[in-house]
Amino acid sequence: MAKEDYYKLLGVDKNASDAEIKKSYRRLAMKFHPDRNKDDPQLAEKKFKEVKEAYEVLSDPKMRSAYDQFGHAGVDPSMGGGQGFGGFGGAESFSDIFGDVFGDIFGGGGRQRSSVQRGADLRYNLELTLEEAVGGTEATVKVPVLVTCSECNGSGARKGSSPVTCSTCHGQGQVRMQQGFFSVQQTCPTCRGTGKQIKDPCPKCYGQGRVQETKTLSVKVPAGVDSGDRVRLAGEGEAGVNGGPAGDLYVQVHVKEHPIFTRDGANLYCEVPINFPTACLGGELEVPTLNGKVKLKIPPETQTGKLFRLRGKGVKPVRGGGVGDLLCRVQIETPVHLTREQKELVEKLRDSLTGGGKQHSPQEHSWIDGVKSFFDNLTG
Ligand SMILES: [Zn+2]
Ligand SMILES: [Zn+2]
Repeated sequence: MAKEDYYKLLGVDKNASDAEIKKSYRRLAMKFHPDRNKDDPQLAEKKFKEVKEAYEVLSDPKMRSAYDQFGHAGVDPSMGGGQGFGGFGGAESFSDIFGDVFGDIFGGGGRQRSSVQRGADLRYNLELTLEEAVGGTEATVKVPVLVTCSECNGSGARKGSSPVTCSTCHGQGQVRMQQGFFSVQQTCPTCRGTGKQIKDPCPKCYGQGRVQETKTLSVKVPAGVDSGDRVRLAGEGEAGVNGGPAGDLYVQVHVKEHPIFTRDGANLYCEVPINFPTACLGGELEVPTLNGKVKLKIPPETQTGKLFRLRGKGVKPVRGGGVGDLLCRVQIETPVHLTREQKELVEKLRDSLTGGGKQHSPQEHSWIDGVKSFFDNLTG
């Protein structure tokens, strides 16, 4: 696919001044900002990358003259000179590019802004019991984090000394390399872009400016959280580099399995075993809820698997909505370890029930009829 002319992309003419090119680039960068292009972010990103590429070339006098002379072939990043362009051809993410542009526009920073980095976000997995998740809790977490070195205040240089200007790049953080017939900029290999060198490193952080510490934090977990929810502690992540802001700490909630209840959204479920006579004759049971025991009425002739709903005995979800219900599924337990006498009673019961025909076990009989007609159809 033929590339659009760089001047055309930026909406300027061939004789445009550096200031005009820069102004136009900023206007277009704002226009294709992802926040303003929510309906088609992919297109906006593509447009932005084209515009950025055009600007990278036209804002550099050497590359601009190469482009004027040879067109895209003179500056094509895929022709081997791409590295020094800032890598817009590949792995660089959109936010990296934008951080760069808007750091430039709003922060007004110079070359060395690239060495100021926000600290990384951290994640902490917090295990809670169901009761803690439903009722809310205050948890103590111990997190290993990189914090600003207290000895050197993050400079990385021994107390009393300070970093000196990098001798390779003279503080620019970037060096020019000749590649073919034009030169490209690269991050300075000596100072890795910071523009400074540490001659006498801080003994506590070995020149890193940050040290690892275990932070103990108290986390307020709101009532109603569930596995997968997370609580954000702003600024409690890793310390930034060279005075950059700290990252955030995300406390990821994981609710442990409960011996009695399982949760599904706002509802709780539990299995309630009932004995055979209660299932036949009806009765009243005590069932547990998260706030104590309640009575559950079992009607006569209850079948196994039946669900009983206890309204309002579930969970109030953290994101709002009404309190859910507790659903108790009854399981009829077949009596075990029967004495001779009990067996005789069951036999008597069986004889009596069988004598009554289909009426005492309608499900069993309709099942038997179904199976019978299934085999009749096979043979007939
Ligand atoms: Zn230090
Ligand atoms: Zn340097």
